[in-house]
Parts: sequence; C-alpha cells; structure tokens
Amino acid sequence: MKIHKGDTVLVLQGKDKGKKAEVVRAIPDRDRVVLEGVNVAKRHAKPTRATMQGGVIDKFMPVHVSSVALVCKSCDQPTRVGHRIVDGEKVRVCRKCGAEL
Ligand SMILES: [Zn+2]
Repeated sequence: MKIHKGDTVLVLQGKDKGKKAEVVRAIPDRDRVVLEGVNVAKRHAKPTRATMQGGVIDKFMPVHVSSVALVCKSCDQPTRVGHRIVDGEKVRVCRKCGAEL
C-alpha cells in the first residue's frame, strides 16, 4: 500500500472531506486506513469492568485509501506517490516536488 502509518493525508471524500489527518493504522489487506478524528462513529457503551466508564465513545472507522491523498512533508501539497530506486531500495517520492516521502 502507498500510505503508511504515521503519514499525513487529505480526505477527498465523505463527511470529513477537506480535513487533514494522521494515519493511526493501515489495513493493507483491505486497502483501508484509520485516520485520527476522521469518519468518527459514536458508540454508546455500557460501563464494563475493563473501562469502568460508559457513555459515548468516539471510534474512528477505516476509510478506503482511494478516498485520501498523501500530503507531502516537503511541499505540504496533497500528491500522488511515485517510486524511485535509491541504492537498490524502493522509496516513495512526491510527484510534485520530487522529495522522498
Ligand atoms: Zn512534495
């Protein structure tokens, strides 16, 4: 997958369109990512022995990778990801400014 945990992405679709968020979890098997504060589902939870607390809990639901764009750390623009071979290793590069991601 092109997007990894810790990346900053721009949301392109859905109710959080236009938001920038950090990837908290990548799910390569399903081509999905979980983003901090995006696609929030409110879960009404009963107090349990584990949490000791009930009430409404924010849960971040996964979104499909095609509905987000990686934001380049160098030029701060949402970009498509290119690849380049550096010293025999494949690195991700920004298609806009050419910086390694
Ligand atoms: Zn860039």
